[in-house]
Amino acid sequence: MIGTWAAPGRVNLIGEHTDYNGGFVFPFAIPQSAKITARTLPGDHWKVTSVDLGETVEATRLEPLTPGWASYVLGIVWALREAGHSVGGAELTLQSDVPVGAGLSSSAAIECATEAALADLYGLEIAPLERAKIAQRAENAYVGAPTGLLDQAAATLCVPDHALFMDCRSLETQQVPLAVDQAGLEILVIDTQSKHSHVDGEYAARRHSCEEACRILGVESLRDVADLDDALGRLPELEGRRVRHIVTENQRVLDSVAALHAGNFTKLGQLMTASHISMRNDYEITAPTVDLAVATALGAGALGARMTGGGFGGCVLALIDKGLHDVVSGQVAAAFATQGWAPPTWFAARPGPGARRIA
Ligand code: ADP
Ligand code: MG
Repeated sequence: MIGTWAAPGRVNLIGEHTDYNGGFVFPFAIPQSAKITARTLPGDHWKVTSVDLGETVEATRLEPLTPGWASYVLGIVWALREAGHSVGGAELTLQSDVPVGAGLSSSAAIECATEAALADLYGLEIAPLERAKIAQRAENAYVGAPTGLLDQAAATLCVPDHALFMDCRSLETQQVPLAVDQAGLEILVIDTQSKHSHVDGEYAARRHSCEEACRILGVESLRDVADLDDALGRLPELEGRRVRHIVTENQRVLDSVAALHAGNFTKLGQLMTASHISMRNDYEITAPTVDLAVATALGAGALGARMTGGGFGGCVLALIDKGLHDVVSGQVAAAFATQGWAPPTWFAARPGPGARRIA
């Protein structure tokens, strides 16, 4: 058997830095995807090609922490075997249009497309959430990147015109309608083409502040903070602002779910903008580039706008009237040019499907 499988990149609609605090996230699949054309090979033989890089890697052994892009593919073979599944050799040819390193999760797209291919080729019965966990294991233990489950859950579970609500503590998920197209709207993803170099250190510092706040408050995770005012009275100023972001952000995710069930995109837009302000003022994870993109999008008529992803650059989401696509993107590009910054890129992100066979 030979076939082709695809899995998408993703953006997080709202709910930033909540995942490691036992909170809520709300991603959806973007139209761009990684495609894997694959067939079985006899024995322990893997031949992995990236058409985009023009490189082929052959392997007869699976060694965790082998550097290089092929580990995102081979890690899936390894993780499937670790989970007790019987997987043999394969020839896997990868081609992806998910932008790399822009916070759109090109890595999970490759992993989840590979997993879909191998599961079908080898007749494996694996439930969707279990697939996401296996792909996460591949990225954590084989590639060596300590990431959460959000990317792989989105790349596996998403369905068109919906966003995926996920409770990062219980791992309960819910498909929530995000039919922007039918409402005459569009989610514009603006890649600011900027990423500060100190992101890892800042990320570790935020996690540390959250752990310190939990210790002071005597809770297992910030998910358990029921009375924000009481917590703020007991915390130093910095930890207080960090906790205020997490607690209010979790509430904004829940409010966004409710707004979408009610078809209230005006409310969704307000929540997105409030999220950005909280990330900017309280969690302090934005950057001049994303702040300017958000302000410009709002000034050009967006219903709401926010940075998405870990922070300090990356992409901005703007919820806009479809007819404003050129106005909003044009004004953001002009604002960047005025600053002398590298030009941003953008695309409309109608929520798409998760991992699947396409040929
Ligand atoms: P992100 O997932 O945010 O895009 P990561 O650092 O997690 O960034 O993953 C990017 C890595 O995934 C690249 O450095 C490369 O190793 C691999 N990758 C992504 N796209 C491709 C591709 N088309 N071909 C080969 N490797 C790719
Ligand atoms: Mg990644």
